[in-house]
Amino acid sequence: MELPCEAELQLLFARLNYQFFNGEAPDCAISYNERFSNSAGRITYSDRPLAIELSSKHFRKDPEALEETLLHEMIHAWCFVKYRDTSHGARFKAKLRECGLTSIYHDLGNAAPSQESKRRFILRCEQCAFETLRRRRPQRPASCPRCNKRRFDPRFPLTIYEVLELRPIGTTLEGAFAARRGTR
Ligand SMILES: [Zn+2]
Ligand SMILES: [Zn+2]
Repeated sequence: MELPCEAELQLLFARLNYQFFNGEAPDCAISYNERFSNSAGRITYSDRPLAIELSSKHFRKDPEALEETLLHEMIHAWCFVKYRDTSHGARFKAKLRECGLTSIYHDLGNAAPSQESKRRFILRCEQCAFETLRRRRPQRPASCPRCNKRRFDPRFPLTIYEVLELRPIGTTLEGAFAARRGTR
């Protein structure tokens, strides 16, 4: 099974949006990120649209899990614009149930420790794709330390992204089964 291209991902998004969200999931830019090796997916927020990134490395090995992961991230996007809620709390779970994914995640919730992480920020250089993580939103503008090592340089600004979720590999369906078998 070949991975859908990014245009096909947008079509898949549109179909899931129609099917489960009555068209109310916010626009998301969906792309693959070649550099993800420990995470399956990520959703970040800087300005509209939200960005969903999927690990091409991971889904090439496990293409069956792609649609479910996209749906999971879409629920985050939907909860975020509707309630400013980024958790896997009651609203998330209720929507998950509506999408018919309940049992999987309840099982996973029991099998694995909570993956909830503190809210984080990514500073990203749009020119060289350098990224660095921060616990707090930076108060002052920063520039890319790779594009200009020596000093602040406004030609290479770092864009702030708020991480709604960084989804580790192993929180997919496959991971849930593996966790139940006790193989991880
Ligand atoms: Zn840079
Ligand atoms: Zn999540």
